[in-house]
Amino acid sequence: MDLPSQSPPHPPPHEGCPAADREADEAPRLTVTQVEQMKVEAKVADIYRVLFGAAPNTKSVMLELWRDQHIEYLTRGLKYLEPSFRVLDANRPWLCYWMVHALALLDETLDEDVEDDIVDFLSRCQDKDGGYGGGPGQLPHLATTYAAVNTLITIGSEKALSSINRDSLYKFMLRMKGTSGAFSMHEGGEIDVRACYTAISVASLINILDGELARGVGNYIRRCQTYEGGIAGEPYAEAHGGYTFCGLAAMILLNEVDKLDLPSLIDWVAFRQGVEYGFQGRTNKLVDGCYSFWQGAAVALTQKLMTVVEEQLKSSYSNKRPPGDDACGTISSTEAVHYAKFGSDFIKKSNQIGPLFHNIALQQYILLCAQVLEGGLRDKPGKNRDHYHSCYCLSGLSVSQYSAMVDSDVCPPLPQHVLGPYSNLLEPIHPLYNVVIDKYHTAYEFFSRE
Ligand SMILES: [Zn+2]
Repeated sequence: MDLPSQSPPHPPPHEGCPAADREADEAPRLTVTQVEQMKVEAKVADIYRVLFGAAPNTKSVMLELWRDQHIEYLTRGLKYLEPSFRVLDANRPWLCYWMVHALALLDETLDEDVEDDIVDFLSRCQDKDGGYGGGPGQLPHLATTYAAVNTLITIGSEKALSSINRDSLYKFMLRMKGTSGAFSMHEGGEIDVRACYTAISVASLINILDGELARGVGNYIRRCQTYEGGIAGEPYAEAHGGYTFCGLAAMILLNEVDKLDLPSLIDWVAFRQGVEYGFQGRTNKLVDGCYSFWQGAAVALTQKLMTVVEEQLKSSYSNKRPPGDDACGTISSTEAVHYAKFGSDFIKKSNQIGPLFHNIALQQYILLCAQVLEGGLRDKPGKNRDHYHSCYCLSGLSVSQYSAMVDSDVCPPLPQHVLGPYSNLLEPIHPLYNVVIDKYHTAYEFFSRE
């Protein structure tokens, strides 16, 4: 898109002249974001123009997922990273998760010795008093705990799964729980929806979630849903795609999703898919490939929640919401609830409705605008690839490939749900935890043993 033409009337007023000053005052002023948005739209439009003008077989080549290059890039990262990665020294379990999960999505098996090295490394990140730090000897933190546990579940071996010290992890989580019920990221750390999700997701996955950990979390998350419909990091902040996914997924795992205003949440997320076909993370922000997962998965989760949505619509939910109601969760800590079942039952439910976003268009954005020819994926054209965006672009691609399946459909999805050659089809994930579904089933069985 070109900048709007603002040709001055003839003769052009010159600087210092009152007419020029008046005109400068009246001229529409574009914000930095508006200018950036126009540049992104122009770049994306150029790419799509080439696709639309191409012959059918060229189109098919253009829409290919460059599996081999991505596998090469991710596998290499597991063995060696440039010195510039020292800035991520407190995020090393995340690096493991981004690469190991992305490779699992591509159905690539790791060498056993690489898997063992990762398990040994993560064991050294495990604190003696519970939880995982960003590296050996670092303070345990809920985000790196989530990354470490998801990595170990994705590796899925007996050694990997039994390396998680569930008893001390449970105690760590209890220590991270504040008086409101919400979690803080680490000792003395920030309290937010991300901390709540990472704690609840991990606790559910390894089957340590109980009434004590769950107490009050749902009410805290509900207070973070904004007037826009999305969920913010903390009460009174701005709705954001990452927190919306975290809040919604945690509420489902807690079996308290009906506390959210789902129609307005769906409305907000669906409208974050922009003219570029990718998602933006917040209203009026630029498109970014990683939100293919955060927003794409959030809206995909709601496809299984239509019964609740319909009930809320029928009862004009927002009008009936009691002002500042109960301070505790609906489930009392004395009730025996099998929390891990909520995640397991959810994935068995079929979608009650087709995709509530343009799932094919999202695949087009990821394949054409987020892939880097040398391997790896990125935020948007003009940006560099990185492991984080590789992980979340591929996770979003998987979600969008499977989101068109409804009740009667069979798995794997039919080719018309998969943009480009059928070889683009990735492994399906459990969208509440973002781990590949087969790995989830193995872990569920493992942690259900008493
Ligand atoms: Zn991003």
